[in-house]
Amino acid sequence: MAQLSDDCFAFGGSLLGIDAARHMIFERVQPVDGVERVALGRALGRTLAEDIAAPIAVPGFDNSAVDGYAVRFDDLDPHGPTTLRCVDRIAAGHDPSAALTRGRAARIFTGAALPVGADVAIMQEDCQRDGDLVTIRPGIKRHANTRQAGEDVRRGALALKAGRRLGPADVGLLAALGFAEVPVRRRLSVALLSTGDEVREPGQPLAPRQIYDANRFILSGLLERLGVEVRDLGIVPDDPATLAAALRQAAESTDLIISSGGVSTGEEDHVRAAIANHGSLYFWRLAIKPGRPVAMGQIGATPLAGLPGNPVAALLTFALVARPMIEALSGTEPHVAKRFPAIADFAYKKKTGRREYVRVSLQSGAGLPKLARYPKEGAGMLTSLTETDGLAELSEETTRLEAGAEIAFIPYSELI
Ligand code: AMP
Ligand code: MG
Repeated sequence: MAQLSDDCFAFGGSLLGIDAARHMIFERVQPVDGVERVALGRALGRTLAEDIAAPIAVPGFDNSAVDGYAVRFDDLDPHGPTTLRCVDRIAAGHDPSAALTRGRAARIFTGAALPVGADVAIMQEDCQRDGDLVTIRPGIKRHANTRQAGEDVRRGALALKAGRRLGPADVGLLAALGFAEVPVRRRLSVALLSTGDEVREPGQPLAPRQIYDANRFILSGLLERLGVEVRDLGIVPDDPATLAAALRQAAESTDLIISSGGVSTGEEDHVRAAIANHGSLYFWRLAIKPGRPVAMGQIGATPLAGLPGNPVAALLTFALVARPMIEALSGTEPHVAKRFPAIADFAYKKKTGRREYVRVSLQSGAGLPKLARYPKEGAGMLTSLTETDGLAELSEETTRLEAGAEIAFIPYSELI
């Protein structure tokens, strides 16, 4: 399962910028082999393995966009009402009985094929029907209320690109093109573990000075949303030998390892040492807050993201580091979180040289949305995630933010 190139480049010195880290990830992590064809009904969330060209046009025929009357544009008097004889009745899914001759109209319904010769459809609300006759008001444009063959997708056009992570609308487009199955990348298998002697499984009794494992539930939720198969390795104690054994075993059977905790510089932080001793460490400190201690490397040939133990930092570094690794491994087009302009309703001071993310809530009101900062700051504060809407992003260069200044807002729905 070799995914990382072998030349070891251990980043020593100072903090690595987030853009450089992202660049390193896409440079070093290569897509896994393996393509399979899955039934369309099972394709949601999978990554397309090939470009998809349209085998048919959509729509496949000129048709009416309204319930009303199909007519020939040239029959219409531009200056006054036109009365035509109605000769046909065309329902969706049925053939017109004949081409539409001069001076005639055909009753038509939404989605029904226009008869040859007709090039405009008039909404029934804009017509007056009297027996066989229909009277149409002036002022309609050629092709109004009609849909041309191929106006959505031309036959042969590139409909979806390789690397697309299929969403519901993508699957709908493939269905409209007639695909019963599609080629997708093999599903990634991701090993997930928590580290820490203090960390316990929910449901188990909690001794004093122990905590329940929150990270594995946050991270497995995020992983499942990305469509990978999660291999749950549970909680590993702060013991170098046990940790090394768990990581080595995971490396043999999965495409990626994600851990949380144990990547700071304390004596009980063994993840970084395990990567360095049993594989290669690419970086272990990023110029971000929260989430500075975050490691990327490989054990054997399997890439590893060592996320920090504090839950807020674990979530953020999942988005910034682990998710790009998953995209690189699965050959998925990288996701770039959209930033939206907003107004800071708070002042903020920071050091230069690192990017900071502040948990904020959207305030409604006129103009650009206002962002209120969550009052409690700690990177371990789970309610700071559940009670906010997203993150305000402060660039490396920023040192001071005044209340009322414009700032970039990333909703959680964009980030993760
Ligand atoms: P560490 O990165 O191991 O030094 O952990 C930093 C902080 O995060 C400590 O307070 C840990 O107790 C806490 N922590 C570590 N792992 C988890 C976890 N799985 N769930 C919740 N908190 C954790
Ligand atoms: Mg720890």
